[in-house]
Amino acid sequence: MFGSESSLHNDKQPLRADLSDRIAQLQQTLPAAVKLVAVSKSVGVDQMRRAYAAGIRDFGENRVQSAVEKKQQLADLPNLTWHFIGHLQTNKARLALETFDWIHSVDNLKLAQRLQSLTVDLPQPPRLLLQVKMLPDPNKYGWSSSELFNDLAQLLQCDRLAIQGLMTILPLGLTDVEQLAAFNQMTQLAQAIHQQTAIPMTQLSMGMSDDYLLAVQAGATMVRLGRILFSE
Ligand SMILES: *Cc1c(COP(=O)(O)O)cnc(C)c1O
Repeated sequence: MFGSESSLHNDKQPLRADLSDRIAQLQQTLPAAVKLVAVSKSVGVDQMRRAYAAGIRDFGENRVQSAVEKKQQLADLPNLTWHFIGHLQTNKARLALETFDWIHSVDNLKLAQRLQSLTVDLPQPPRLLLQVKMLPDPNKYGWSSSELFNDLAQLLQCDRLAIQGLMTILPLGLTDVEQLAAFNQMTQLAQAIHQQTAIPMTQLSMGMSDDYLLAVQAGATMVRLGRILFSE
């Protein structure tokens, strides 16, 4: 899963217009082991039904309430997996735990501790990823690498949390070389954390519409794609 031997490669092929064609083409560019999370935050349930018909089973949303409503409207579709990818406010934490199968955006210790205290009586708590900033970015939530190392001991005490790996969003304006370097650093960070703590680090959620091929090259196991799927 970690790393990749292939050379720097980031073909941005124009994708055909129809949603199901775009999904089919995207799936072809992704290794079978990489999960495509369709980020549906800016589309309605009609588009999501079309994506489902084309094979999508994983949807990513960044607002808890909106996801609750969509989930109700799509309750007839079997085998959906719901991913939370936005900043989670503490007052929405319980509803998020009840709504999502994955939370990619656990972005500070207080939130982790809150989730730990709320997870007591949940039959199927979601799997969690820790959101890290591989480069300084004042506009984003998440731990820096060094902040995360400082908090590892306390995270380990949150023994009810099903932490599975890391998530990152890169800052805008990087070159391909810088993006690939940052994604490779995230892969190395996950390995280092796993070696120190034995926290499972099998999932790396990295890569969006503009950078997902580089993320895959660096070992992403989940890519979160919005515009490249849904914008005409
Ligand atoms: C919106 C969003 C995405 C999707 O971004 P695109 O550039 O539209 O592919 C992925 N991850 C997060 C956290 C987002 O908020």
